[in-house]
Amino acid sequence: MPLLQVLGLQKAYGGLQAVAGVDLDLPGVPGGQITGLIGPNGAGKTTLLNIISGVERASAGRVLLQGHDIGALPQHRLAARGLVRTFQISRDLGQLTVLENLLLARPRQTGEKLLKLFAHGRLVRQEEEAAIETARAALLKVNLWQLADAPAATLSGGQKKLLELSRALMLKPRLVLLDEPAAGVAPAMEEILIDTIRGLAAEGVDFLIIEHDLDVVAALCEHVYVMAAGKILTQGSFAQVTGDSRVVEAYLGLKP
Ligand code: ATP
Repeated sequence: MPLLQVLGLQKAYGGLQAVAGVDLDLPGVPGGQITGLIGPNGAGKTTLLNIISGVERASAGRVLLQGHDIGALPQHRLAARGLVRTFQISRDLGQLTVLENLLLARPRQTGEKLLKLFAHGRLVRQEEEAAIETARAALLKVNLWQLADAPAATLSGGQKKLLELSRALMLKPRLVLLDEPAAGVAPAMEEILIDTIRGLAAEGVDFLIIEHDLDVVAALCEHVYVMAAGKILTQGSFAQVTGDSRVVEAYLGLKP
């Protein structure tokens, strides 16, 4: 069964069809696959990612995760099923330390539900300890543990991307959606980011990545979908899609 299936997805904003009937499949092979989603500005990539990740509702079509329709589920329910999207560290989160950012990213805890029930204090403490251990493991995976006590706002662009990734890891994801992971990342950090994503994929996490930097796509993605004018133009290996004249035309704005 495919990990993710997008079937006939559409999203209209007034008269504009931002997503105009998209089909997309992630096979969910053991070992984790990294799939790229590329295309010129305004192609509909972010809108598609927003719908898959529960940020927006589709006008028509279906999204299936491991065979189950997830089209109407909010983000926390999707996270519970293993589908997580990363978000930029907001100004508020920037005030918190790296470790605090991770602790806030975890799923709802007993403590939140039962905080008023003093009898559960011990259970809450145990959960806190377990959460700190999970956060430590996540930060070690992205090599940020040494910055656990640093305010998130003081991190470099690349370190912030690693923090976003580690926040996603707190939810123990099966599939992570990334919107432009390499944007604002210095070249030296780009390699670290690529290695980190590859390492996570090798451990069994699948990725669907929107990325404008085609060198990053070439380095990371085994399979690439190309979108233009709300539709999937073509798919295949990076070499196949970039060798397709329709893709070149779409990027040059000659013909969608
Ligand atoms: P980019 O690479 O520039 O981020 P994209 O491929 O992600 O582009 P989208 O951001 O999905 O494209 O936008 C697709 C189209 O939908 C664009 O024409 C955009 O202006 C329009 N659009 C996106 N969000 C909205 C919205 N909330 N309201 C109205 N129009 C929107």
